[in-house]
Amino acid sequence: MKDRILVTGGTGYIGSHTVVELQQAGYEVVIVDNLSNSSADVVDNIEAVSGIRPAFEKLDCLDFAGLDGVFAKYPGIKAIIHFAASKAVGESVQKPLLYYRNNIVSLINLLELMPKYHVQGIVFSSSCTVYGQPDKLPVTEEAPIKKAESPYGNTKQINEEIIRDTVASGAPISAILLRYFNPIGAHPSALLGELPNGVPQNLVPYIVQTAIGIREKLSIFGNDYHTPDGTCIRDYINVVDLAKAHVVAISRILEQKQKEKVEVFNIGTGHGLSVLQLVHAFEKATGVKLNYQMAPRRAGDIEQVWADPTLANQKLGWKAETSIEDTLLSAWKWQLRLREKGIQ
Ligand code: UDP
Repeated sequence: MKDRILVTGGTGYIGSHTVVELQQAGYEVVIVDNLSNSSADVVDNIEAVSGIRPAFEKLDCLDFAGLDGVFAKYPGIKAIIHFAASKAVGESVQKPLLYYRNNIVSLINLLELMPKYHVQGIVFSSSCTVYGQPDKLPVTEEAPIKKAESPYGNTKQINEEIIRDTVASGAPISAILLRYFNPIGAHPSALLGELPNGVPQNLVPYIVQTAIGIREKLSIFGNDYHTPDGTCIRDYINVVDLAKAHVVAISRILEQKQKEKVEVFNIGTGHGLSVLQLVHAFEKATGVKLNYQMAPRRAGDIEQVWADPTLANQKLGWKAETSIEDTLLSAWKWQLRLREKGIQ
């Protein structure tokens, strides 16, 4: 029988790509999502890509009794990948309690239910935001955790601690914390991708919406940073590559290959790209000229960060594979499909 995996937030951007990769690796997936930032159509699109329809339960992870019911309805769930969370940095500053409640209580509910249903482990979506501006680059998992810049970032740090404390207390579970760098791109089929809510806050969604004419021009936030071209540097990771990291993390848990009951891995390419380099790579990959201007720095931005992914490369046997050109082309094809469907 196929191992059954619960994916919370499975209709979201990273979640949906991960569901497909899990299915293609032979897992049976149950999705829980409250559709607060995604739509039920995504379930159809997952099926169109993989040929397999995942089980889907529309449910908020704050609903403890509802979650209990999901575990009872789908017996034998072996592990959880927990994506469901609020993720807009700016909004979290405006509505901290919403963020603390959503992101922290959801995790607590899952951790409380895991022993009852003999769920072996959990893969948690963490973020390189926990490093703040690292003192040394590339940043390793050993780098100190810096004070969070936003309630959103703080929920990632607190959730990592909650998982560590729960495992340390003797709960019969294990965990893998994946610290994502900057996920971008879409499924090569153009059936799955990122659907920003309103004006995009993230760079690549803003670029593709500018290229297609929804936005007039991209503002590059700051060109006076201490970087070679003055713009910020990030480690942009292809979303399908990122999804595959979750699949290997799940098999590491289920095959009991973990060296420690809580492991943490950086999930990035190991290469930093500046905003300007990314813009030029987009133009080269797509042949579309991008309208952009230099603008003041954005509050709270880190100057530069990129991953040392050696640990993930060696222990998980995972490596980012897709080129930045292919990744940006996939984001562009996704935007073209949204236009074709009259969505955006
Ligand atoms: N950025 C930009 N213009 C935009 C959106 C983002 O210049 O319209 C820059 C931003 O300042 C940062 C980089 O692009 O240096 C990546 O930003 P994003 O919000 O995508 O990710 P994060 O800030 O979480 O790294």
